[in-house]
Amino acid sequence: MGAQLLNGAIIAAKLTEIVKQDNKEFQSLYGVTPGLTVIIVGDDPASKVYVGRKHRACTEVGMNSEVVRLPEMVSEEELLQEIDRLNADSAVHGILVQLPVPKHINSEKVLERIRPDKDVDGFHPINVGNLCVGKENLVPCTPYGIIKMLEICNIPIAGKRAVIIGRSNIVGKPMAMLLLARHATVTICHSRTKDLAAVCREADILVAAIGKPEFVTKDMVKPGAVVIDVGINRVNEKLVGDVDFHNVNDVAGYITPVPGGVGPLTIVMLLHNTLKAAKLQFSK
Ligand code: NDP
Repeated sequence: MGAQLLNGAIIAAKLTEIVKQDNKEFQSLYGVTPGLTVIIVGDDPASKVYVGRKHRACTEVGMNSEVVRLPEMVSEEELLQEIDRLNADSAVHGILVQLPVPKHINSEKVLERIRPDKDVDGFHPINVGNLCVGKENLVPCTPYGIIKMLEICNIPIAGKRAVIIGRSNIVGKPMAMLLLARHATVTICHSRTKDLAAVCREADILVAAIGKPEFVTKDMVKPGAVVIDVGINRVNEKLVGDVDFHNVNDVAGYITPVPGGVGPLTIVMLLHNTLKAAKLQFSK
């Protein structure tokens, strides 16, 4: 018998309905429509697809959505000025700069320029710091979506051994903080981790955020473990996760597919964060 499938699309649809309802209530209370502005620099095809999805998702729940398209050769200063303009615009409640930005632009500088209460990606050091001290204000969307998935599926976290492969600021580190806050015992692994397979085999909850197709194999997974695959890799025009799904499926207790696992949740949490940002701005 295979693992139980954690279907992100179904869970995302439920969460979208909740955001839609909350958004309606917010609008009738304040007479304001929450708005998200996404800045995209250059012509990266994958980024264009992601931005298109974010735009559609916003309009589907009744939020305003604007996409600011800047040319590949825009200067860092011009991009920062655009962020300043959006920071000052009261109709814009959430700002997101689609990553990656071209190499001549310092992404840290860009992310730090976004007003923390409009930072719907949760990447500003103030929001990162808040997360570390247990204040979950604007939390990075992908790990937050994973937590929501575990909670909705009644998968216990407290007391469990959680192993995360990957230590990025976008996924690995915030994932660790969120699991720790829910009382898991957390290990973060990376490219220098010794005997990675043995560490992974200790995991009740294994999160793979590496960016290497089918990296996590059956021998790395404890029988019955919850396996969350964050990876999005394009192999021969097909999307493949970081987990060898077909073989790991035989040993895991729960598993997310790629596509249709973590991806849809990331988008809903962006909507959730946009509404939350609007609430933060109105509660001042
Ligand atoms: P990064 O490239 O920023 O980080 C990858 C991490 O994997 C690094 O910490 C790296 O270690 C680690 N790693 C690389 N090779 C190994 C190895 N051989 N053994 C152990 N660890 C290794 O990636 P992201 O965190 O941004 O993204 C990870 C994946 O998730 C990508 O496929 C990305 O496309 C996907 N993604 C999916 C999202 C979704 O919505 N589903 C959202 C965000 C990302 P080190 O630090 O030592 O280099």
